[in-house]
Amino acid sequence: MELNNESLLFASGYQKIFVLLVFALLIIAEKHSGQRANDTGIVNRSRRLNVQMFLFNDVTMNLLSVSSLLMIAENFSGFGLFNLIQSIPIKMFLSFTLFDLMLYWMHRARHQVKFLWMFHKVHHSDIDLNTTTALRLHIVEVFLTTVGKALFIVIMGVPTLLVAFNEIIITAIVMMNHANITFRGEKKLAYIFIVPCKHLVHHSKQWREHESNFGFALSVWDRAFGTYLKSEPDAIGLPQIREPSFLEALLLKWKRTSR
Ligand SMILES: [Zn+2]
Ligand SMILES: [Zn+2]
Repeated sequence: MELNNESLLFASGYQKIFVLLVFALLIIAEKHSGQRANDTGIVNRSRRLNVQMFLFNDVTMNLLSVSSLLMIAENFSGFGLFNLIQSIPIKMFLSFTLFDLMLYWMHRARHQVKFLWMFHKVHHSDIDLNTTTALRLHIVEVFLTTVGKALFIVIMGVPTLLVAFNEIIITAIVMMNHANITFRGEKKLAYIFIVPCKHLVHHSKQWREHESNFGFALSVWDRAFGTYLKSEPDAIGLPQIREPSFLEALLLKWKRTSR
């Protein structure tokens, strides 16, 4: 389906409104049924840095005029593999599951490749885990992720509307998985999806625990590739790194502590 520039702006506007709505609902849910009772000072400092990083990344990406994924899909998705598939439901299913599979492997690479881990460390430096932790990403990681997603869209030929749909669903799930919440049926849902108590394990200070549960939306990839772990971590964050400032996180200059 062809969209003009105005429709693209509209779609990306709706995308932002939906994500903001989910974000606000999660913040309210955390306030009323927070699972872990962390020190208010730590939570506030964590939230402040996370929002600062998000604003910095958003403004920088706009200044660098990194084209939106919707724009890329609109102009370059006419040649990829999905153009061979007629059925919309099959296209929807495949584009979402394969996109999630790519995110799983990109996340594993960030842990295994030293250069990528250097930037991904910023995400793991939060000693609290809350909805805003999903926003704590180094600008280089954001840029590389955007390049990976753009390549996926072009090679697979993902139609614009499906790109918007996948982005909205993944963003909402990623924010939810960082939220300090629990809900009925969470453990059952974990058979297929990543849920907050599973992503919590990935943010553990303990090496074995944080080398597990790499999935974004589906937990089936962790099960299939042997990285699924059931556990209850004692502490969140990275050993010897405690509460970086905005500049320390941006410049990767870690102030080490004995704890
Ligand atoms: Zn990670
Ligand atoms: Zn995370």
